[in-house]
Order: sequence, then C-alpha cells, then structure tokens
Amino acid sequence: MPISQEAMARFWAKVDVRGPDDCWPWTAGTDRAGYGKLKVDGRDVGAHRISCEIADGPIPAGLSVLHSCDNPPCCNPSHLKPGTGRRNLVEAVERGRRPESLRGSHPRAKISGEDAAAIRSSNLPGIVLARQFGVAKSTITFIRRGSSEALKERRRARRAEVMAGA
Ligand SMILES: [Zn+2]
Repeated sequence: MPISQEAMARFWAKVDVRGPDDCWPWTAGTDRAGYGKLKVDGRDVGAHRISCEIADGPIPAGLSVLHSCDNPPCCNPSHLKPGTGRRNLVEAVERGRRPESLRGSHPRAKISGEDAAAIRSSNLPGIVLARQFGVAKSTITFIRRGSSEALKERRRARRAEVMAGA
C-alpha cells in the first residue's frame, strides 16, 4: 500500500517523536491490543505498519510488523521490522487462516479484508501468495481482478468529476 503525503502528514501529527533510540508512542486511537490505528482510504491501518512502510517501503504480503521493543503503540521505525513472529502465527491459526501444521494449502481458508489489501498491493506471483494465504491460485487472481475493476471504476468517477468542473 503506497502511503500518500496526506496520510503521512496525519500519521506524523499523531506520533510523539523522541530520541532515536526511544520508543515513539502513538498518541491517537489504538486497537484492543494497544496498536495505533490510522484511517487510510477508509480502513484502519496499524500505525506501526505505516511507520515501517515509510521507513523501508512496502511490507511483503503475509508479513506482520514486529516490535523489537515489545511496546505495541511504539512507532519508532528503528524498533520495527517485518516478519512472522510466533504471536502472529498463533493469531493466524486462531483466525483459521492456516491449518495447525502451518504447511500445505487450505482451500477453505478465509481471506480477511486486510489480507485482500495485502494481496492487491503485493507484486509477488499469484502462486506464492496462494501458498502464503493458504488459498487457491484462482482466489488470488479473483481478488486481484476485483481490485483492477474497482480501480478503473474510481478513475472513471474521477474523470467525470473533472469534466463536471469539481
Ligand atoms: Zn519502541
């Protein structure tokens, strides 16, 4: 997900930036686990994920952003890195995304909105994403096609606005 200048400005306005080695606490709303949240394109995105993306570029699909400081509201990019921590694997199993064994595919696995967004923003081949998310490759194709249709629709709407002098 590319971060717009507008979202970046809103993001930094809510981070208490301290020394380079200190934790930089999120000062606005958090989820139940204490992770900062920011609305981007109408959905909640983890503040720590935004921080990590601004610092290091897009997070590979299927990876979470982990805190080396174990402090959920912290947004200091030097305390953050993408990865699959044990905690994230446990959460993925609880959500039923992956089978207990964590290997093989699971055709009935559900894709959350967050997963779908990660799939759309990923440049990885469909087969790789299918393995990561435990779904059929056709599901990945379907999710991506949906996204390009939606994009065309948004572009059409925007053009219409411009023509109307909005
Ligand atoms: Zn920290």
